[in-house]
Amino acid sequence: MDLIINRTSKAFYRLPPEMCAVLLEAFPEAFSRIEPKPLPAPAPVRWSVGKGFRGESFLRIVCDSCKCNRIYVGTVADLPTFEKTLCAHTGPVPEDVRLDYESRYTGDLVPVMGKPTVTDLHNKGWQ
Ligand SMILES: [Zn+2]
Repeated sequence: MDLIINRTSKAFYRLPPEMCAVLLEAFPEAFSRIEPKPLPAPAPVRWSVGKGFRGESFLRIVCDSCKCNRIYVGTVADLPTFEKTLCAHTGPVPEDVRLDYESRYTGDLVPVMGKPTVTDLHNKGWQ
């Protein structure tokens, strides 16, 4: 915990919380607690639906917090499996994105690629 001495405005950082509690209780006019700065809000996760060069629909998710960029190509029914592989900043696929993907998904890619795929482009440096 961080405290400031009111008379001198000198700050002391990372003090044991028990010690701060005693000082603030005994000498409330002498010390003030320095409130921790709130953590910056995580950047929102961006979802989009696009079309690949083979005409396949894909679902993309970009998370700026952990710099991940994921592509999903597969059936709508398998989306929950994909969701489980996503980073902690991500919730389930938003309903409007799911509906957009569902309306554009043709299934044409399944015979082309054999099976639905999940590709992690992060290591390839894609944005
Ligand atoms: Zn993330």
